[in-house]
Amino acid sequence: PDAAPLRRGLPVPQGISKTAFLVAIEELRSALGPDHVTLNDKEVKNGWYMEHPNTHDMMPLFDSEEFIASAVVYPGSVEDVKLIVKWANKHLIPLFPISIGRNLGYGGSAPRVRGSVTIDLGRRMNRILEINADDFTCLVEPGVTFYALHEEIQKRGLGDKMWIDTPDLGGGSVVGNTLDRGVGYTPYGDHWACHSGLEVVLPSVGDDGDVSVFRTGMGALGVGGENTWQCFPYGFGPYNDGIFSQSNFGIVTKMGMTLMPNPGGFESFMYTFANESDLAPLIEIIRPLRISNILENVAQLRHGLQTLSVKGHPRTNYYNGSGPMPDPIIRQHLRSTATGECAWVYYGMSYGPAHIRGHKLSIIDNEFHRIPGCKRIDPATLPADEYFWSRDRIASGTPDLEELKWVNWMPNGAHAAFSPVSPIKGADAEKLYGLAKRRHGEQGLDLMPAFCVGLREMHLIVEIVYDGTDMGMKKRVEKCLRDMIDDAAALGYGEYRTHLALMDQVAGTYNWNDNALMKFNNTLKDALDPNGILAPGRCGIWPKRYRNRGWEL
Ligand code: FAD
Repeated sequence: PDAAPLRRGLPVPQGISKTAFLVAIEELRSALGPDHVTLNDKEVKNGWYMEHPNTHDMMPLFDSEEFIASAVVYPGSVEDVKLIVKWANKHLIPLFPISIGRNLGYGGSAPRVRGSVTIDLGRRMNRILEINADDFTCLVEPGVTFYALHEEIQKRGLGDKMWIDTPDLGGGSVVGNTLDRGVGYTPYGDHWACHSGLEVVLPSVGDDGDVSVFRTGMGALGVGGENTWQCFPYGFGPYNDGIFSQSNFGIVTKMGMTLMPNPGGFESFMYTFANESDLAPLIEIIRPLRISNILENVAQLRHGLQTLSVKGHPRTNYYNGSGPMPDPIIRQHLRSTATGECAWVYYGMSYGPAHIRGHKLSIIDNEFHRIPGCKRIDPATLPADEYFWSRDRIASGTPDLEELKWVNWMPNGAHAAFSPVSPIKGADAEKLYGLAKRRHGEQGLDLMPAFCVGLREMHLIVEIVYDGTDMGMKKRVEKCLRDMIDDAAALGYGEYRTHLALMDQVAGTYNWNDNALMKFNNTLKDALDPNGILAPGRCGIWPKRYRNRGWEL
């Protein structure tokens, strides 16, 4: 259902009475203006992707009212953010910052602690502060989406000169996606590696009653230091940026990002591979090509079922049985599509002028054809609405939304991901694919894996699509995800990113030397956020006030 009244009433955060909370909210309203604080006391309303809610996850893995905000606050400046931090410390109310809140598959805009006050930074802090056409860099606020940055570059007449890198969906925030270490598909696809410089508001109030704001890297220099803030990420002394990604140590109010020079030409290509067993030898072929940059972008090797599902039709169009859709049925339906019958599809792009592309593409063609049954699909044969062209847009820096279509696989389509990282080795790919297949089989779920090949590692992204209103199915999905995380950890693999609901489990797998890493994170958390107000529990990091008190899942 699109909107339903709150069954459990206003989600007041734990540790404060409803009356005291409402008084505190009025105080915040009078400080920021009544329009900039809204109470979440009426309904759970979902929209489509571009009208997503900012109070909860529109693709919930649990009950929609489990991870839900009590109120949303819209700061318009760094001063407003500082004021909100002071207010939260005074009342001990948990805050959850989002930039846009389209973190779908990983918790959307939901806070980890029920009743947190969401800081929606993106609504009002959405300026592109600079696009530097000499250095190919930009400086943005949290509300700048990939679409907005792309449009502004076109508007300034720089579209022929520079590209952005976008994830599969362009409606996310450049800052939010990068802080969660998201990926895109040009050679600048590792967003965290491509950022340069942060401005951060810290979550505590100092002895002087003030809240600290600082800039990392060259941004820390005094007057005039901004000239290299977006060109050199490190500055002098410890490199601090890392502790503000996938964490709850600070609120990022500005971020620098690098932009890619137009390479002077580009050409997408697609190959299909006939057999499931082609996976391991193909990954062995991909590794040296990727490390030596013959394969230049974060490329995708997708299972045939994903190629079918991204057509946007519901599963019932193809199959009505229970349990995972059988391979022969998948293959039968693929026969009438552009890829034809196959097990795997490789999507890639070559960059540069034609003579440079030609050289690289012929090496790739020779190498891929070492797999018997490999087919190159000629793009000239593909209609304009074929998904291939969406990959083509994304890998050349043009935001798109086609990828959303596979979410229609189930009614009330929702999804959550299992995303382990491994070396680019055939044996690793087989082990991860094998365990995913086994666990999906046990829970009767369709398996849609995609290997996203970075430079020296690959992410296996397994998206489980489920009915967001079907509690029974969601229980099976959660069981499947938790089993895969444990199986992978036992084999020495860890996730690069995870859903809010699974963060404790995933953090728990990074437990070398008696959980030394989490002990370090806890030390930082207690030092930087002694009252524990900022995003408690995010990435498994709990402040002292919450730690070991039953919040962990
Ligand atoms: P937000 O939701 O704003 O931020 C993400 C998290 O970072 C927040 O929950 C918060 O904890 C933290 N955060 C955000 N802003 C701040 C801040 N200013 N200070 C401190 N902490 C902050 N993702 C990819 O990376 N690549 C893909 O190719 C991709 N494909 C997808 C395809 C589909 C069909 C779907 C549904 C999702 C896909 N996603 C992908 C996942 C997700 O949609 C994107 O990563 C999206 O960009 C994240 O949402 P956002 O940018 O709005 O970030």
